[in-house]
Amino acid sequence: MIYLKTREEIELMREAALMVSKTLAIIAKEVKPGVEPLKLDKLAEEFIRDNGGIPAFKGYGSKNNAFPATLCISINEAVVHGIPNKNPLHDGDIISVDCGVKKNGYFGDHAYTFAVGEIKPEVQKLITVTKESLYLGIEQMVSGNRIGDISFAIQQHAEKNGFGVVRELVGHGLGKNLHEEPEVPNYGKRGDGPKLREGMVLAIEPMINLGTKNIKQLKDGWTIITADGKPSAHFEHDVAIVDGKPEILSSYLFIEEALASLK
Ligand code: MG
Ligand code: MG
Repeated sequence: MIYLKTREEIELMREAALMVSKTLAIIAKEVKPGVEPLKLDKLAEEFIRDNGGIPAFKGYGSKNNAFPATLCISINEAVVHGIPNKNPLHDGDIISVDCGVKKNGYFGDHAYTFAVGEIKPEVQKLITVTKESLYLGIEQMVSGNRIGDISFAIQQHAEKNGFGVVRELVGHGLGKNLHEEPEVPNYGKRGDGPKLREGMVLAIEPMINLGTKNIKQLKDGWTIITADGKPSAHFEHDVAIVDGKPEILSSYLFIEEALASLK
């Protein structure tokens, strides 16, 4: 069942989404060679709890293998769901940082891929194209379109640039639950799937690989990696349909300001 949100609910969801945006901006300032991902996770958890939020990923999943951290930190060939550890970041790495927050009973779920120091041009292109594909998908999020229009736009842009589009993991509805219907695949056909309607809120999240689209899961039961070991990028926004048009509830402005301040 797809839950449509009222304007009031969308405003509450914006608060949760922006708390994630601000958390990611704190991380943006700290991403550099030598930093331990676990330190980033502690900073994120502190900020969220200090501001009246609850980390949404910590404890998520089954009782015998609940996700142990506030952030999913996925480095290089890790696509998503990486567990923060104490292995320092290296110059030339890319890291996707995904964060979920519950605030006022609603969830925000939003991600960004950062470069650590200097990265190869082909990897920078992967990051740029993945982010572009997110915005092209969002453009399609208008009343009367269908989920497949979002999926198609993302897939076209990624594949036109020679990249692999992950099939097994998808975006999703968002609200009082972290994952709601409908699923939002990053591949598909125009005109397919559920119709987009006023009040829908979706987490759109392209996961794009430099090489093959195929993935594997590590024995930790969480981390997803590319089958060929090549890098993968991931961007995610929370988007509502308001007055028939897409309104992005999360924001990369805080991250961009933080990154600019480091230059
Ligand atoms: Mg996410
Ligand atoms: Mg998500």
